[in-house]
Amino acid sequence: MKIALVGYGRMGRAVEPVAAALGHEIVARIDAAENPDGQGLTVERLAGAGLAIEFTVPGAAPVNLERLAECGVDAVCGTTGWYERLDQVRRAVNAAGTALIYAPNFSLGVQIFFRLTELAAQLCERVEDYDPHIVETHHRHKVDHPSGTARRLAEILLQQVSRKSRWELGPGDGAVDPAVLQVAAIRAGESPGVHLVGLEGPDDRIELRHEARGRSGFARGALAAAEWVRGRQGVFTLQDMLKELWN
Ligand code: NAD
Repeated sequence: MKIALVGYGRMGRAVEPVAAALGHEIVARIDAAENPDGQGLTVERLAGAGLAIEFTVPGAAPVNLERLAECGVDAVCGTTGWYERLDQVRRAVNAAGTALIYAPNFSLGVQIFFRLTELAAQLCERVEDYDPHIVETHHRHKVDHPSGTARRLAEILLQQVSRKSRWELGPGDGAVDPAVLQVAAIRAGESPGVHLVGLEGPDDRIELRHEARGRSGFARGALAAAEWVRGRQGVFTLQDMLKELWN
C-alpha cells in the first residue's frame, strides 16, 4: 500500500518502520507546520497514497479526516479526544465513498486484554469474595488520567460486576465505598503504559497485567486496521474489525 503519514510525532514515527517491514511504502509525511486547518492535505501532496494514517492532536483530526475523504484517501485515525465531531466526519466520509477506521487504542494485545478482563469480570460476578480494581502507570508526559484504556477496563468491569456501581480515581480521603471500583493512576518516568486488573480475594490475589514495551504495538495494530479497511466504504471502529476477524 502507498501510505501517507498525517502527523509525524511519536506515533507517526513509530508507524514508519513497521509499515516498511510489512512491505508498505510511505509516500508522504505531513506534520503541523505544512498543514494549518488541513490545508496541506491536497491530492498532489498526498502523492498517490491510497490510505493515510492519522496520529495528530484532537483539534486537528476532524478537519484532517474530512480533507482526506475529499481527496479520495482512506484513513486510519488513532488520535483520541475528537469523537464529539464524529458525525461531521462521518458525513464527509460517506459523501466521498471512502473508508475510515478509528480507535483510541490500536494495540491488538490490549484488545486481547479487554477480552480476558471481560471473562474475569463475568467470573467475579459469580464469586463475590473477589474485589476488582485497576492500576495504570504511564510516562510523566501523559496529561490525561486515568488513561482511556483504564476507563474502558472500568466500563467492562462495571458492566459485568453488579456489586460495583461506578468507578472512581482514588482513593480519596476516608474509608472507601465497596460499591466503588477503585482506579489508581501513576505518572512516572518514561513507561509506555502498564495496566493491571487486580482481583483481591480473601485467600489469594489474581492479576491480569498488560505492559506495552513501546509504541510499535499501536503501529502494528494501526497497520492491520489499514489492511482491513482499504477499499471498504464508511466509518468503522476497531471493534467492527475484530468482530469479523476474531469471532
Ligand atoms: P505527538 O505529540 O508526539 O505527535 C503529534 C504530531 O501531530 C506532532 O508532530 C504535531 O506537530 C502533529 N500535528 C499537529 N497538528 C497537525 C496537523 N494539523 N496536521 C499534521 N500534523 C499535525 O503525539 P503522539 O504520541 O504521536 O500521539 C498522537 C495522538 O495519538 C494523541 O491523540 C494520542 O493520544 C494518540 N495515541 C493513540 C494511540 C492508539 O492506539 N489509538 C496510541 C498512542 C497515541
